[in-house]
Amino acid sequence: MRSKVYFSRARAQSGEASLLNKTGKLFKEAGFDKIMKEDDLVAIKLHFGEGGNTRFIRPIYIREVVEQVKKMKAKPFLTDANTLYRGTRKNAVDHLNTAIGNGFSYATIGAPIIIADGLKGKSFSEVRIDKKHIKSAKISNEIYYADALIAVTHFKGHEGTGMAGSMKNLGMGAASPAGKQVQHAGVLPSVNKNVCIGCAKCKKWCPAEAITIENKKSFIHSEKCIGCMECVTVCPTGAISIMWDESTRNLQEKMVEYAYAVLENKQDKAGFFSFVMDVTPDCDCCNWSDVSIVPDIGILASRDPVAIEQASFDLVNAQEGLKGTALKNAFSSGKDKFRALHPEVEGYLQIDYAERLGLGSKRYDLVEI
Ligand code: SF4
Ligand code: SF4
Repeated sequence: MRSKVYFSRARAQSGEASLLNKTGKLFKEAGFDKIMKEDDLVAIKLHFGEGGNTRFIRPIYIREVVEQVKKMKAKPFLTDANTLYRGTRKNAVDHLNTAIGNGFSYATIGAPIIIADGLKGKSFSEVRIDKKHIKSAKISNEIYYADALIAVTHFKGHEGTGMAGSMKNLGMGAASPAGKQVQHAGVLPSVNKNVCIGCAKCKKWCPAEAITIENKKSFIHSEKCIGCMECVTVCPTGAISIMWDESTRNLQEKMVEYAYAVLENKQDKAGFFSFVMDVTPDCDCCNWSDVSIVPDIGILASRDPVAIEQASFDLVNAQEGLKGTALKNAFSSGKDKFRALHPEVEGYLQIDYAERLGLGSKRYDLVEI
């Protein structure tokens, strides 16, 4: 079966064509008004951006989504779960302060922020799914208990999963830190000592104290490593890479199984936005942002999380890549930009697996509005 994915291009040359107007139209066209009823508590799941990141989804778009939910007389709140790694969103206090620092607050958005898994990430529900990797998933409570869910996703690259879209936003993003750890277990990084300059940034960020500096080179103690890949992200010289074996496939499959668990009690109660703008090479968990690898494309909305992921992936790869960015090859239209950015990772595996799990269809009709 083919699913409908609604799409508005990023370009605008009139007030009517403003992306804020388009966001509201997409909400209606995609049928998000049908997933909620009066007084429903509607979780708007987003990523507030790590402190220092500058290309997360702008608050003005989220405010428009909030307005649309309020028009349905439902009750929206913004939410995300705490992180596994040390950073500015490791607990609810830091997370809220980061969100406010990045422009998300009741005053700017018109809705409260509720961190989904509580003060220290311990507030979660076990969701029994009995899948290949995950038997019982640890889903953050405020997402689990919400009456309806709108996932607002920034579509971009990711060092561990190739690309980060709706599956990442839900599967990893709605998991409690314990659930995130389960997903990362088995992904092991290694250090190229010829490239390591001994700066110790990796040691500072490692949440598991798995790194020591020996003879001015980083050393990873594999028995302590939890596979969060923070060290890969923060290393300034690219000295740390993932040991390529089955591990990234397993990571992606676990992430998709977690997305399945998130949606398990949201049958006909979930909608998905994908902002294919500011397509950065790495995720919004970085405390910096590189420039986009392709021009801004637009905003997508669908009730099918697989179709919207496939459509976002296809739209990025259909673009000409931008020179002078992190992209070093695969510039021409049709080439896989994410594979070029992260050659060890086949990012589309997550879309294939999501379809196999029955989360949706990779076949879609793009409806431009
Ligand atoms: S060494 Fe392991 S636990 Fe530490 S940051 Fe790297 S991947 Fe994470
Ligand atoms: S961050 Fe990179 S360069 Fe610095 S010590 Fe760690 S591996 Fe070496």
